[in-house]
Amino acid sequence: MLNPKVAELLNQQINKEFYSAYLYLDFANYFIDQELNGFGNWYNIQAQEERDHAMLFLQYLQNNGEKVTLEAIAKPDVALTGNKAVLEAGLNHERYVTSLIHAIYEAAYDVRDFRTMQFLDWFVKEQGEEEKNADGMVKKFELYGNDPKSLYMLDSEMAARVYSAPSLVL
Ligand code: MG
Repeated sequence: MLNPKVAELLNQQINKEFYSAYLYLDFANYFIDQELNGFGNWYNIQAQEERDHAMLFLQYLQNNGEKVTLEAIAKPDVALTGNKAVLEAGLNHERYVTSLIHAIYEAAYDVRDFRTMQFLDWFVKEQGEEEKNADGMVKKFELYGNDPKSLYMLDSEMAARVYSAPSLVL
């Protein structure tokens, strides 16, 4: 059995990851509505990754004999006011998720829960990549987003992203 606080935070993270998937589906819809189907593809794949993250937290709890409680997933609450604003909201969201992962890590650290710390190591690293990717999207958009031809090329680059399952296996 896990420490109750650690278990509760891990359980809450299932919901946060599914919310992330929901948010990125909303982003994908926003871009596809504008015929920016490459950006739509990028966020659809991002949403799939978030569902994978949710399942990893769920399975970790199950592997440790903990009961999983699923809560309602909130409606996406980012105002889709413009391309750059959406990309920036993605970066802010990833920074927020990093803070959540770090908070779970801290709770595990406090009770010397080495198993959970080791499980979370993958997510700590993953969040570094997520923030780098989201920051890259904003910077690329700043460079190329205001010219239709370069935006078309950037959208084509986003269209090339393919899904791959997470490297963490439980
Ligand atoms: Mg995630």
